[in-house]
Amino acid sequence: MALQSPRFKSSQKLLDVDAGRTIRTGASGRHVHLVQMALIDLGYPMPRSTTNPRYSPDGVFGNETRDKLIAFQTANHIPPTGVIDRATIQALDVLCRNYTHRVRLHFRSLSENNVPFNQGLSDAEIVYGQYGIKIEFASGMSLMLTPEEEVDFAVIDDACAWVITDGEYARLHGMGPSIPQTDIGVFYVRELSDAGGCGGHMANRPACTVAANVTRWATAHEVGHVLLTSAFNPTHVASNRNLMMDGVLHFSTTPVLTDRQIAQIKASTCCSRI
Ligand SMILES: [Zn+2]
Repeated sequence: MALQSPRFKSSQKLLDVDAGRTIRTGASGRHVHLVQMALIDLGYPMPRSTTNPRYSPDGVFGNETRDKLIAFQTANHIPPTGVIDRATIQALDVLCRNYTHRVRLHFRSLSENNVPFNQGLSDAEIVYGQYGIKIEFASGMSLMLTPEEEVDFAVIDDACAWVITDGEYARLHGMGPSIPQTDIGVFYVRELSDAGGCGGHMANRPACTVAANVTRWATAHEVGHVLLTSAFNPTHVASNRNLMMDGVLHFSTTPVLTDRQIAQIKASTCCSRI
């Protein structure tokens, strides 16, 4: 049976391992990062592979990864080959099959927009699923605007700030039915004057704003800001492989998060343990 764990099933290279391919020392990439992260979460820490603040664990299959694999294999009565083979990925898959955490999103759009809800949702499901975090669709609705409001909200031209106290963002986030403080509102607008999205919101009202026409992964990125909060440093990282990259989002493959980012996200009041 194909891999079931949300941590692994988005990686074609790991699906290939399940089909018989073997990955060994010298390999690198997201597939190695995902196996390293799973091993760390299962109690096999990797201090040498977790020093890069932009991409950690580093996705490099070196001696530390091999040693931890052998420890895992031995503990699970799998031949201690030190490679990622079919028996190993299947054992990891069984142990990581269930989500451990949940984040609930409420999608809101302005009526005039053609909003790619499903793309934003499925992107977020994939990125956070890599770490056992389930992104749950809690509600979705179009906010019915008056013609006057449509003119006002055509472009959000307030500056994005961590804490919003008034102005267009505050008005926007106050529209529609209230959202529980432990859930996140995702408000889609046509355009933001200074960015593709903004993770700022009013105190105790977690929400983000996303321009409907921006690239894939923007929803996942802004939700990341809400979960990480202003307390996390750095806010952005200079790596086009990390979801929280600086500048215009452009990823050649599914973006990742670091073990430090994930630890902070799991500590968020909007991320509950399942
Ligand atoms: Zn950002």
